[in-house]
Amino acid sequence: MDLSERLAAERRARLAAERLLEQMKSDLYEANEGLARHARALSAEIQTTQKEVVVARNEAADLLGQYERAKRSLETAESATTIAERRLWDSLEGIRDGFAVFNPDNTLVAANRAFLAIFDGLEMVRPGIALGVLFALLAEEGIVDTGGMTHADWQALMVARLASPRIEPAVLKMWNGAYIKLLERRTRDGDLVTLALNITDQIEREQALEEATTRAEAANRAKSAFLANMSHEIRTPMNGIIGMADLLADSDLNDEQQLFVETIRSSGEALLVIINDVLDYSKIEADKVSLKTQDFDLEACIHDVVRLLSHSAAEKGLQITVDYDLFMPTQFLGDAGRIRQVLTNLVGNAIKFTDDGRVSINVVGHPTAEGETFHIHVTVQDTGIGIPKDKLEDIFREFHQVENENDRAHDGTGLGLAISARLVRMMDGEVWVESVEGDGSAFGFRIALPVVAATDTAKMSKPDWMARAIIAGDSPQSRDILKKQLCFLGLDTICVGAIQDAVDLAPGPQDVVFLGAEQEAALRALVEAGTPGVETLTMMLLADAPSRPDLQDTPFAGMLQRPVVRAALTKLLHNVSASEVSAKIDEPAVAAPMFETTRAAPKPPVASDVEADLAVDDTSGADHPASGVMAEQGIDLAEPAAEQLPEPEPEPEPEPEPEPEPEPEVVEGGDLAQPEPLPVSDLARFEEAGGPNAPRQMRVLVAEDNRTNRLVIEKMLKTLNIDLSFAENGQEAVDHFQWQRPDILFTDISMPKMDGKEAARRIRAFEADGQVDPCPIVAITAHAMEGDAEAILAAGIDHYMTKPVKKADLIEYILDSCPEAVLPVMDAPSQAATASAL
Ligand code: ADP
Repeated sequence: MDLSERLAAERRARLAAERLLEQMKSDLYEANEGLARHARALSAEIQTTQKEVVVARNEAADLLGQYERAKRSLETAESATTIAERRLWDSLEGIRDGFAVFNPDNTLVAANRAFLAIFDGLEMVRPGIALGVLFALLAEEGIVDTGGMTHADWQALMVARLASPRIEPAVLKMWNGAYIKLLERRTRDGDLVTLALNITDQIEREQALEEATTRAEAANRAKSAFLANMSHEIRTPMNGIIGMADLLADSDLNDEQQLFVETIRSSGEALLVIINDVLDYSKIEADKVSLKTQDFDLEACIHDVVRLLSHSAAEKGLQITVDYDLFMPTQFLGDAGRIRQVLTNLVGNAIKFTDDGRVSINVVGHPTAEGETFHIHVTVQDTGIGIPKDKLEDIFREFHQVENENDRAHDGTGLGLAISARLVRMMDGEVWVESVEGDGSAFGFRIALPVVAATDTAKMSKPDWMARAIIAGDSPQSRDILKKQLCFLGLDTICVGAIQDAVDLAPGPQDVVFLGAEQEAALRALVEAGTPGVETLTMMLLADAPSRPDLQDTPFAGMLQRPVVRAALTKLLHNVSASEVSAKIDEPAVAAPMFETTRAAPKPPVASDVEADLAVDDTSGADHPASGVMAEQGIDLAEPAAEQLPEPEPEPEPEPEPEPEPEPEVVEGGDLAQPEPLPVSDLARFEEAGGPNAPRQMRVLVAEDNRTNRLVIEKMLKTLNIDLSFAENGQEAVDHFQWQRPDILFTDISMPKMDGKEAARRIRAFEADGQVDPCPIVAITAHAMEGDAEAILAAGIDHYMTKPVKKADLIEYILDSCPEAVLPVMDAPSQAATASAL
């Protein structure tokens, strides 16, 4: 090879070496760069790790702190638990009742000393012993009285109780007469916690209470028996008094004597009512009342009661309605007398406590599943004074009256409802009451009575000839009830407000008009005006009181007494003879003028005439339909026909009627209340006494709500020369006092509106205001209880005397209080005689 070739080769080799060098340089640079990057990453990582290490260190320090704190808390908690446990056990040891815990296998875990003491120091009784063994020990060691059971049976019984999820408490009678009550409960973990309570004191108290109750019941029965006997004993002489007063009343007496006898009789009768209540209640209390079982007609029984009380209802202008469930039978088996007694009390109260409106009796019922017995609900509703809510609960308890004894406007013993409730309960029934004060009350009872005979509805139908019934007048309530009854009989029934509306309906001969008694005047006006269609009406009178015995000469074909009895209604309708009606169809124009014959009738029928008429009616059937119904309704024919229709012409020569009984001259409180001007009677007395300077009579004011007592006092003082005035309650006495100051005031304590004590307080206040001398005030009271005297005297009353008042006492007080400047109360000899008698 030449040189050039060698040089070229070398050059090529050098170039290659240079390129290689370049390459290596670049690789080296790359490697350096990578190394530098790695070193940078590594140092960043180291920095991060360093930070993490710091954090980890901090966290570790924290954790250590927490651990330290937790450890300390745990130590605190442990010591608190120990203290609490110690306290708990100290407490459990401190109580006199036994406490023990058993594990779910009923093995004793722990027990306090009181629990262990039950076992009377038996050594084997300690934690680890089974509960079954404990019961066995109690029985075998004679620690408990097993009540005659064998030890094994008793133990088995006690253990068996524990299987129940709710373990019943057990009372153990211990050997020493103590009583332990075991109360056991399972915890959520199945442990059994046992409390053994010493209930010896409680048992002893209960036994003492039971004995006391038995003794009290026996005493109560003895008291009731005594009261029953006493009431009975009192009734006998009372009957003598009333009977003799009756005889005396029929003898030849002057007016004043007649008045006295009447007062004896009415006071005696009032007393008998009270005694009867007491007797009844005592008999019930002493278990001496048994119920009778007899057939009776419930509907008739209710109407009997209504009839009995209708007089007092009518006096107050109250209407009584009876709505007896038309689909309910009327014949039942029960004690009619006692049911009547309950009804009389409820209806009597409803009338007594209602001043206007009405009393509605509602009877509904439904049969039991077997249909032999009926559940009967009787409600007596009134629109009276009602009863405050807080008094309702006790209203059926004896002697509970809403009015307090010092503010009584109504008489009563407070026993009626208690007796009724007891009687209804004896019949396995219930009584109830709902009332809104000021709006009225609803009293009711529910009883179940066996049905004697289902009502024969076939008999409850209208006569074939009758088409429509028109009820004219009457109150909406009783009109609705009558309408239901008539519809039930199958009559189309229309109610209208007045007789004119009935005439406007142009009733045909098959229509019957039922006319409320209050429409009679309107009927008469129509007749007198010759209104067409009135003459031919077939009319029934709906009368209130049984005072219309003779309808013969009136336009009425019959009469029903309100409230209407269903049976009477059906009978009446069937008694209106079809022939009578067809006569009206044939000869409407010649019908006798209505009312005419009545006007000519000289006298109201006397009882004997009516009875004779009735005797004929009984046999002649339909000729005088109304009479039959009157007898049916129990109308008292002996009553004089007080409301003849129309007013009879004045008698040509009337028998001189005996003058009505003179009313006792009682100064009514209403007059007393007027301050100005001076009443005429007083002016007259004033003038009579000879003018302003002449001596006047001594003024005696008596505040007494009971009319009879006023009369008695008036009669006792009638010989005295005094100016005697009466007030009927405390308010009237105070009013009188402001108007004319009396020289002495006698006041009853219990009075309506304002009692005697309050009246005395007010009078004393007036006197203090006016700076006048105090008026002597004497209380006349029936309050003979301990403590009453203090209350009476504390009201500013000077003296008190208990009822019955004695004439001599009254006169003594009057003489003692007589001012000097008045006319002598008695003439000198009488005064001397009285003084020596006192
Ligand atoms: P008495 O009527 O003899 O006081 P009761 O036992 O019959 O006794 O009634 C107790 C009390 O219940 C009455 O005094 C009266 O306050 C209240 N009371 C009873 N019935 C009614 C009634 N229908 N309306 C308002 N209060 C009544």
